[in-house]
Amino acid sequence: MSTQHPTADPAAGAAVKAADRAHVFHSWSAQGLIDPLAVAGAEGSYFWDYDGNRYLDFSCQLVNTNIGHQHPKVVAAIQEQAARMCTIAPGFAVDVRSEAARLVAERTPGDLDKIFFTNGGAEAVENAVRMARLHTGRPKVLSAYRSYHGATAAAINLTGDPRRWPSDTASAGVVHFWAPFLYRSPFHSGSEQQECERALAHLENTIVFEGPATVAAIVLETVPGTAGIMVPPPGYLAGVREICDRYGIVFVLDEVMAGFGRTGRWFAADHFGVTPDLLTFAKGVNSGYVPLGGVAISAEIAATFDERPYPGGLTYSGHPLACASAVATINAMAEEGIVENAARIGEQVLGPGLRELAERHPSVGEVRGMGVFWAVELVKDRATREPLVPYNAAGEANAPMGAFAAACKKSGLWPFVNMNRTHVVPPCTVTEEEAKEGLAILDEALTVADGFTV
Ligand code: PMP
Repeated sequence: MSTQHPTADPAAGAAVKAADRAHVFHSWSAQGLIDPLAVAGAEGSYFWDYDGNRYLDFSCQLVNTNIGHQHPKVVAAIQEQAARMCTIAPGFAVDVRSEAARLVAERTPGDLDKIFFTNGGAEAVENAVRMARLHTGRPKVLSAYRSYHGATAAAINLTGDPRRWPSDTASAGVVHFWAPFLYRSPFHSGSEQQECERALAHLENTIVFEGPATVAAIVLETVPGTAGIMVPPPGYLAGVREICDRYGIVFVLDEVMAGFGRTGRWFAADHFGVTPDLLTFAKGVNSGYVPLGGVAISAEIAATFDERPYPGGLTYSGHPLACASAVATINAMAEEGIVENAARIGEQVLGPGLRELAERHPSVGEVRGMGVFWAVELVKDRATREPLVPYNAAGEANAPMGAFAAACKKSGLWPFVNMNRTHVVPPCTVTEEEAKEGLAILDEALTVADGFTV
């Protein structure tokens, strides 16, 4: 099913790979064990290699190219800004920066009307934590075990999943709790409502025993992403909001992955009618064309820093090229109905299509998600829910998931595979035909995963 791309140039690809092997130190990788694909180009929902293989991008890279690759309006905006003024320090007022802040603030829920720009998601989380600590004068921050918040110092400590372990500095000031997840319920719940009630009681107990006057913030992904795309049960986030209000705790929603259309709304919080005190974003704000993230700040927390300086910021905070691309991205998403497209594809194509695959493939334990944000959880045994392969802390090859991923790639689909899950995260611009093409390839590749079931 893979479509050949006309720009094949294997010799150029080999040269890129050789230089990469010699000099690039790759993130999250054992340097000697990886063989990265050399990518020649990208457009819309596809990218291609130097051998002419074209891949339907069902990973959106790291779940960031919400507007697809090489959107012409965004590329043009970056070019125009580069010709006009490539860089200027964060302390100046600049048209593209103030316009990007206005466009973000207009879309964030409630009174989150001040925008602090960063270079990405982890730095946004770092600053949200700093703001919460300075605002409350309290030291501790609570976050969920099944979470990912970034790889910098505070963000990796907040991250609840095992990616934290190698970098954990004794979780300075961080306390983890269990958020709801019915399929693998830590509370042994039998229904969504029970899971919600038990998770809220557990969170409140954790706060009470930590000492409410020591807790600055609760940081939660609105819909946890890399940890498994677990849509929270109705009432959970509203319950967390109430708990935060009761104890004077800052509520931080991390929408680095879930924001900007991914769930079929501008922000995932819109599905749940909840307004946090701080909201972190990155990725989809400009589809990662230029590194950008930020924190949307409530009026109350912003006022903390009216008379006293905010002690944070980097050389490139609110970089003009990044802000210009955010302005163009947000405008294009609004003009072209891209968020609505993500909602429609989720409801009409991906949701029904993935559920249908779950019925036919014994390796599929559960399918869950919304918009263009889905997880397919693969199991050895549906009855026991034993994961197809448990997390392997030694980083050894994950044979069944590796075979599944290889089958996808062979047929021209680039998947997002993490632990025992494949995440179905195409761009918000994905067409019905592309979504169906992807489902057909997943169908084929799942027969490989079925071969590993008991
Ligand atoms: N928070 C969440 C929810 C994320 O998904 C990520 C990245 N996957 C981050 C924070 C960190 O973002 P970045 O990699 O841009 O630092």
